[in-house]
Amino acid sequence: MNYTTNIQAADQIKSYKQLIDGDWRDASGGEWIDSENPYTGKVWARIPRGAAADANAAVEAAYRAFRGPWSKVSASDRGLLLMRLAELIHRDAEHLADIEVQDNGKLRAEMLGQMRYIPRWFQYYGGLADKIEGSVTPIDKPGMFHYIEHVPVGVVAAITPWNSPILLTAWKLAPALAAGNTIVVKPSEFTSVSLLALARLFEEAGFPKGVVNVVTGYGNEVGEALISHPKVARIAFTGGEAGGRRVAESAAKNFKRISLELGGKSPNIVFEDADLDSAVRGVVSGIFAATGQTCMAGSRALVHRAVHDEFVEKLVAFVQAAKLGDPTDPDTNVGPMATRPQLKKVLDYIEIAKADGAFLAAGGTRVHVPGTDDGFFVAPTIFTGVSNNMRIAREEVFGPILSIIQFDTDDEAAEIANDTEYGLAAGIWTKDLARAINFPKRLEAGTVWVNAYRAVSYMAPFGGFKSSGIGRENGVEAIKEYLETRSVFINTDPTVPDPFKMR
Ligand code: NAD
Repeated sequence: MNYTTNIQAADQIKSYKQLIDGDWRDASGGEWIDSENPYTGKVWARIPRGAAADANAAVEAAYRAFRGPWSKVSASDRGLLLMRLAELIHRDAEHLADIEVQDNGKLRAEMLGQMRYIPRWFQYYGGLADKIEGSVTPIDKPGMFHYIEHVPVGVVAAITPWNSPILLTAWKLAPALAAGNTIVVKPSEFTSVSLLALARLFEEAGFPKGVVNVVTGYGNEVGEALISHPKVARIAFTGGEAGGRRVAESAAKNFKRISLELGGKSPNIVFEDADLDSAVRGVVSGIFAATGQTCMAGSRALVHRAVHDEFVEKLVAFVQAAKLGDPTDPDTNVGPMATRPQLKKVLDYIEIAKADGAFLAAGGTRVHVPGTDDGFFVAPTIFTGVSNNMRIAREEVFGPILSIIQFDTDDEAAEIANDTEYGLAAGIWTKDLARAINFPKRLEAGTVWVNAYRAVSYMAPFGGFKSSGIGRENGVEAIKEYLETRSVFINTDPTVPDPFKMR
């Protein structure tokens, strides 16, 4: 296959439409947002710049579908629809991967892996759809029969970021739909195209119109309209702190149910007894996979002083051998930043780290790779001599910058690891069984990997402590996030007692 044919020439800009109530529509205001290919830096597609009117129409459609046709689909049939969707995603995996590569700059190899794994989310939650069981409970009231049922919350607004558009939306769509809700998705304005392509498959799978809607546009326009809409019962948000805060504020005003999957500054801790070659691979995968643009990025490597120099030497050699370039080339190891503003932000943080006194051990510059003049490439960057109070160690960069911090004792490692506002994930590298079991208990993190990093599964709950979020995605736990509990009392005593006489 000639991979380079995936790149669009400037005169082949594709226009996409949004999905509202089963119709493919332009924005109500007729405006567009350009989408750049991060490898070429050129506009390759445009998406509708949706407005509040589009968000409102989508919510109304989702509400009608929730009260009407979707409520009549049995739980088993909901499950079958999700499984049918999984088959279609599998069928179209290459096509969807190619779109994401152009829109987001992700490596094609990574995207093919993702697209072949994502169907599992729809199969798993499809299987759970008809196993949402209530219970009949004992009750202290004579003559009273009592049961508990779990019912869908209603219309869900799913708001997602640009870094893994299809994957992170699947984490919301699959449990929300399995639980019987309808949904309006607002993907990131930077990377909406793959979601619009995915949305076609819901139609083909046979979901009734209005069950899944996709409105594209900016956070302060479409996003705001969704989070403040009275018919949105629940908001599932993945993104940064500012957006998360707005969602929480709106939820506080309107008592909406929310989940927030936010950022991280995760520690990847290398103890003195670690297998250093494995730890190097784990630290590299933690921060340079997906060009560091992952919420769970292990952006702080805490390394025991006794192995620090040897570790850094191996790490720098490994990273300097990494090949940057065309994300469609199977030999490329590190792709571009996904967006132009993100490129600038990463370059700014390199300067901030240098000014704060960190030592640049590798990378540190924008890179021009062959075949493109304006690709958003930054060399994988490693800073040593970092102290945990420097900005580079405290603020989420969301890019390929690793800060290395030394420690001497387990106590100190735990203290540095937890000395952050975030609490999304952590990794530890050790051969000591007792430490492997005991150290994770000391970490304020929603996910801990031991001698591994970045493993996620549809079966394993994922989410953050502290400022990294509220709620969990994935696993059986996640479906409960999309359900309300209803308590039903049925009086079996034919005589209703006189309410003015206390019993
Ligand atoms: P972002 O917060 O800028 O945008 C996320 C989404 O929210 C976008 O669709 C955006 O349009 C929308 N939005 C922004 N402001 C809004 C508002 N006022 N009201 C409603 N919607 C609004 O985040 P981003 O830059 O796209 O993504 C990067 C961030 O996402 C990082 O902080 C990263 O850690 C986080 N993230 C977290 C997870 C997780 O699972 N914890 C996963 C991936 C990314």
